[in-house]
Amino acid sequence: MEEAARAWARVKRRLRAEVGEDVFTSWLARLELAGLDEGHASLSVPTRFLKSWIEAHYLDRILSTFQSELPAVAAVSILVRNALRDPSAVLRRPAPARAPEASPAAGEPSRPSSPVPQPSGEERGEITGAPLDARLTFESFVVGRSNALAQAAAERIARNDSGCALYNPLYLQAGVGLGKTHLLHAAGSAARLGGRRVIYLTADRFMYNFVAALKAQTSHTFKERLRGIDLLILDDVQFIQGKTMQQEFGHTLNALIDAGRQVIVAADRPPNELESLEERVRSRLAGGLVVEISALDEDLRVGILTQRLAAVRAAHPGFEASAAVVSYVARAITTNGRDLEGAVNRLLAHATLTGSAVTLETAEVAIRDLVRNREPKRVRIEDIQKLVASRYNVSRSDILSERRTAAVVKPRQIAMYLSKVLTPRSLPEIGRRFGGRDHTTVLHAVRKIEKALSGDATLSEEVELLKRMLQD
Ligand code: ADP
Ligand code: MG
Repeated sequence: MEEAARAWARVKRRLRAEVGEDVFTSWLARLELAGLDEGHASLSVPTRFLKSWIEAHYLDRILSTFQSELPAVAAVSILVRNALRDPSAVLRRPAPARAPEASPAAGEPSRPSSPVPQPSGEERGEITGAPLDARLTFESFVVGRSNALAQAAAERIARNDSGCALYNPLYLQAGVGLGKTHLLHAAGSAARLGGRRVIYLTADRFMYNFVAALKAQTSHTFKERLRGIDLLILDDVQFIQGKTMQQEFGHTLNALIDAGRQVIVAADRPPNELESLEERVRSRLAGGLVVEISALDEDLRVGILTQRLAAVRAAHPGFEASAAVVSYVARAITTNGRDLEGAVNRLLAHATLTGSAVTLETAEVAIRDLVRNREPKRVRIEDIQKLVASRYNVSRSDILSERRTAAVVKPRQIAMYLSKVLTPRSLPEIGRRFGGRDHTTVLHAVRKIEKALSGDATLSEEVELLKRMLQD
């Protein structure tokens, strides 16, 4: 079984690399290996919603990843973890029945299961928001040039007791690790302290709540309950997927805003680039206040590090890092707040393990892998165009030209696709850099390649190779 657990760890690592950090954390991180025998791998997830979502979108990929690690695996099935504790559910399992306690990675120790499964709050149509993290407050949020506006807007809303919503919705937009979730939690906690009823939902919780309510035929109550709150906070709305879900999101948004309830949402892209949402919903989102948090500048990075170090010192009084170390780390790690936090943890681990003070040299060693692994190479659109052109035997100016022969169109679309996935540039910006094309042309290219990739293994390999060449 140890062998199986190791193989599963490798499969997970591969999946993470293949689908990317965002998709992985949203959908696949909670997969656990429940059993592996006779070429059949069973995996478990905590909710029925995740099960059906993964089955609909990721099952093939999970199977092929398994096969690349363990060629004997011929089938993969997904189970719901709670169902493992429900004896009757075991009989309904698709796999040859196995004793529930034989599952090594079911997460929690198995409790005696009650004969009648109790419906969860969600199944009764109640809305259970995700808990707010008490450490993510306005006090612990460091303000700088790139996030001042977002912070001010969030705080005004959180402390607004006029009874009228302010800029509704507030839409926070920023790349990963730039403080969206921190601000949302801070706003939620502050508003709660002010006596307001707050619900904080991530995209998958929003979807799960809705699906559960539908199944329990209480979607009426679902909407009613949402109308009974003062502030709805929705994190990572870019992950709301599927037509019904997006429609429901639109309805919820409209209902709340029309009823004068405050809404705050966060996403990793501007509203007009939430490509799968209906135009009406996008414009509603754009109709409040849209604030972007841009990359953390060096001062802000120093500020966040200093704040983090102070928090760590409170728990580990002997731990010290000099101003020189702080300034070195702030210069070495430019990506985001998450990596800064990782760096502080490494400094602490290093200091605790070696029992020596942090110096510039030890700091360098401690964060080395973080700098090397996390700092993605900055890929330039120009390099993408050159590489793709040479690979397909056309010139870069062909790619930028108006020519529409197949020999040019395909590499052009691939180059546009790579520009979208490998650089932070927006669709309009990419359009400009491809001979002044419209953003809808870029969007069309991106979708076309995305679609082709899922059915065409050769193309998929080719694109993967191009990606590696650009990133190495
Ligand atoms: P996002 O949701 O945008 O991906 P998070 O809010 O999760 O980012 O931030 C990642 C980490 O960086 C968190 O630990 C957060 O507390 C920290 N962080 C980001 N910005 C700031 C800031 N301005 N002040 C303090 N901590 C920050
Ligand atoms: Mg977040």
